[in-house]
Amino acid sequence: MAENIYPIEDQLVQRSEREAANGHRGAVVWLTGLSGSGKSTIAAAAERKLFERGVFARVLDGDNVRDGLNGNLGFSLEDRCENTRRVAEVAKLFAQTGAVVLCSFVSPTRAMRQTVADIVGPDDFLEVFVNTPLEICEQRDVKGLYAKARAGEIKNFTGIDSPYEAPENPFLELRTANLTVEEAANQLIEALPL
Ligand code: ADP
Repeated sequence: MAENIYPIEDQLVQRSEREAANGHRGAVVWLTGLSGSGKSTIAAAAERKLFERGVFARVLDGDNVRDGLNGNLGFSLEDRCENTRRVAEVAKLFAQTGAVVLCSFVSPTRAMRQTVADIVGPDDFLEVFVNTPLEICEQRDVKGLYAKARAGEIKNFTGIDSPYEAPENPFLELRTANLTVEEAANQLIEALPL
């Protein structure tokens, strides 16, 4: 514990009290996969469905943290690790507040995802592998990034000139090539141990 820091956790409303009031547990649902695999789309659809069922759910994704909390970070390996660490700390606070946090981040390495699991704790970390073949992600090319990466305008792009390490034992795998967004979101929320 850092010097001169005195946590007051024991004086605060406890997580168990919050979860009892919400009627479900908190958790960090970590969606990992290639750019364009469908992480953000599935997270948004799942958030809406959970909200409609009265679940306290919240999406965290690259775009909503990169311009605020992590606005000073770039895409070097060091900055990507720091980006992941901060997101994990925020997700942990949300989960401890009883929320189901749907995090969509490429998070290409096992080490990065292990960092998240270590920060949020193994009981709260639910790894979801959004498994979509590179060819399909590249066809979709939602943000035009694959075209830029192929043209050499973006370096170290995951799947093109930087590796993606698939999860070995994810909590859930969604193969979106054979699913609609609706089906993928339903599979996700039905699997959640809330
Ligand atoms: P990511 O967040 O992984 O970069 P996005 O969610 O931004 O990916 O983009 C995925 C694209 O693929 C969206 O345009 C979405 O509509 C489309 N798509 C087609 N089928 C699916 C599916 N089954 N699940 C998720 N997205 C799908």
